[in-house]
Amino acid sequence: MAGQTQAPAYSSYDVVIVGGAIMGSSTAWFLTDNPDFNGRVLVVERDMTYEACSTAHTNSCIRQQYSTALNVRISQFAADFIKNIRERMGGDERVPHLSIRSFGYLYLADTDAFADVLRANQVVQRSAGAATELLSAEEIKARYPFYNVEDIVLGSINTVDEGLWDGSTVFDWWRREARERGVEYIENEVVAITRNAQGTHVESVTLTSGEVISCGQMVNCAGPRASQVAAMVGTDIPVEPRKRFTWIFSAEQPLDQDLPLTIDPSGVHVRENGGGTYLCGGHADIDPAVDPDDFSMDFAIWEDKIWPAIATRIPQFEAIKVQSEWAGHYSMNTFDHNAIMGPHPEISNFIFLNGFSGHGLQQSPAMGRGTAEWLTYGAYRTLDLTPFHFDRIRAGQPIVERAVI
Ligand SMILES: Cc1cc2nc3c(=O)[nH]c(=O)nc-3n(C[C@H](O)[C@H](O)[C@H](O)COP(=O)(O)OP(=O)(O)OC[C@H]3O[C@@H](n4cnc5c(N)ncnc54)[C@H](O)[C@@H]3O)c2cc1C
Repeated sequence: MAGQTQAPAYSSYDVVIVGGAIMGSSTAWFLTDNPDFNGRVLVVERDMTYEACSTAHTNSCIRQQYSTALNVRISQFAADFIKNIRERMGGDERVPHLSIRSFGYLYLADTDAFADVLRANQVVQRSAGAATELLSAEEIKARYPFYNVEDIVLGSINTVDEGLWDGSTVFDWWRREARERGVEYIENEVVAITRNAQGTHVESVTLTSGEVISCGQMVNCAGPRASQVAAMVGTDIPVEPRKRFTWIFSAEQPLDQDLPLTIDPSGVHVRENGGGTYLCGGHADIDPAVDPDDFSMDFAIWEDKIWPAIATRIPQFEAIKVQSEWAGHYSMNTFDHNAIMGPHPEISNFIFLNGFSGHGLQQSPAMGRGTAEWLTYGAYRTLDLTPFHFDRIRAGQPIVERAVI
């Protein structure tokens, strides 16, 4: 807990959302936007500064390059929402117009096996309406002369609705409008969940300040702490905090064109950040679960892994200067890297919205909308998100998504 706890105004709510960052606030906002939902909503957030959550540490990019059509469609809705945010938010003139800086993601393959994966992914992406192109090493060099492509077999890029967007503005407006429309946000922590005698229904949540709040339904939007909340109803979910490092650097000789978000075969990624600066990210080769409060930097990884990979791929980046760096956490779904959502199989009013790994920001519009539909109708009305339900984990049936960063 960051500050003083706040007491809720009521002792009973139709929906209690645990965690008020991007997923909690998207769900809250979409509930308020649905004329068929008239319930009372409480968002319980343990740290209203939001400084420790994944949303605050994100790289804020969106891509259409996934290997499953459903993930492509989720990003297509996100792109539409971002580009039409004012209309989507009821024409509110205070909401700024946003755009996507579509420099694209460039996946680089240095083996025939990964080139085949990119080719197969492109078929899925194209058939779902994404504009992915495959480029030979020569074509990459012709378009982006700054790359060293000596070891590259194939690249895959899409420059439509793929790149950088302003996730924090979307988060701010969802939160602000949700509150204005009556959603109550309190700084407090859910520390226990009580079920009925049969264990089939959540009756209430207990706050760290002692209040017991009855709820019709509850949503787990606790990000890297999702497993702790699931454990409150005795359920294990394969979601753990995994550390991801980010660096912003300036180049002595900046590139004279936008740098796509380049996914190097080494696993390091680097992209345009504007004003002669670039953002890169990566993680240690040994990648254990960590404490969600552990934000310590691994300084060796920059020297040993990140900078050598960048300078090899883009020789012009031989002379660069780190300007800032931070560690954040993926809520890593160790089962299949995809969202875990929908109702608990035995406790139907406990709703998951977890495990977004490295792509939760861009999925937040579709996942918040879908969860609001589930809370209102007990079914999805737009995109069918049932493939992401928790049942698949119990059944041992992963959604194989081969485009994971
Ligand atoms: C370095 C990095 C780069 C990323 N880059 C991208 C990207 O480019 N594009 C993209 O789409 N995604 C990206 N992501 C992923 C994305 O940021 C996350 O998937 C997304 O922000 C998850 O949002 P969330 O609301 O689920 O979780 P969080 O933002 O972590 O929010 C969870 C909230 O729950 C609260 N909470 C937890 N437990 C409790 C409790 N018991 N009671 C009350 N409150 C509680 C926490 O305080 C927190 O505010 C990145 C993530 C990282 C770390």
